[in-house]
Amino acid sequence: MKLFDLHCDTLYEMYKRSCSFTENELNISLKKAEGFEKYAQVLAIWSQNDISEEARFEQFLEIYNTYKEKIPADFPNILAVEGGGALAGNIKNLELFYSLGVRFLTLVWGGESSIGGAHNTDKGLSDFGYEVLKKCFDIGIIPDVSHASDKMFWQVNEEAQKCGKPFVATHSNSRKIHHHTRNLSDEMFKAIEKCGGVVGISLEPTHASPKDEPDESDICRHIIHYLELGGENTVCLGCDLDGVTRNIKAIPDISHLYKIADFLKKEGLADSTVENIFYNNANNFIIRNIKL
Ligand SMILES: [Zn+2]
Repeated sequence: MKLFDLHCDTLYEMYKRSCSFTENELNISLKKAEGFEKYAQVLAIWSQNDISEEARFEQFLEIYNTYKEKIPADFPNILAVEGGGALAGNIKNLELFYSLGVRFLTLVWGGESSIGGAHNTDKGLSDFGYEVLKKCFDIGIIPDVSHASDKMFWQVNEEAQKCGKPFVATHSNSRKIHHHTRNLSDEMFKAIEKCGGVVGISLEPTHASPKDEPDESDICRHIIHYLELGGENTVCLGCDLDGVTRNIKAIPDISHLYKIADFLKKEGLADSTVENIFYNNANNFIIRNIKL
């Protein structure tokens, strides 16, 4: 089986613990991913929310050093930034991010930043947020609305339509299956689908189900619902490994993702659909929209 995962926070954990990517105690390591025939990963540099934006920019540079030092050059990956506050309110830093290889920008993470409001607010894009969004479309960084407020989501959609470019939600489940502000309504999913974007399914337990211990069946309900909305070529995985306070028990790390594939096949999904979700949809999106 091949895997293309749209979101993890492993770089931040590697930076904090100064551990290797090859073998470590984290949810993701090359060793744990050995079972995949092919494995590609969008590696997010998460931007800590409780420090100043200037400090977040400095931290971005430190984590970037970890990336350069520890991710093998031949490992298929794409760099992302999670939380536009790391731009420290300076549009020039977006060009710097691009020059360093960043191709996805999760606009916000939590609360308010210079970009605008996250899912736990009712605030949309700030003037600076609009400037960043337009420049993202312009230079080839894909805006990611996971964590965005509903207001911001629709503002991004409007700008995407104006310029005919896609946006994505790298790690957002379905609000129809489990109501959470981090999840997408059916209308939101369809808007992303319509503009040619992709949506990654997250394994964050509180976004998957109200149950104390969700398992792979709860994750698969989100996938199946998205497929019912016509998402055959839109749904991907964006597991958020190493980015959650606790993992679902059945999938403690990347080596257990096969349980999702097994469950979907047991539910009657074609092998080709499962392969689309696990690899092809993300890979095709990258080929269509990203200059590496
Ligand atoms: Zn996240």
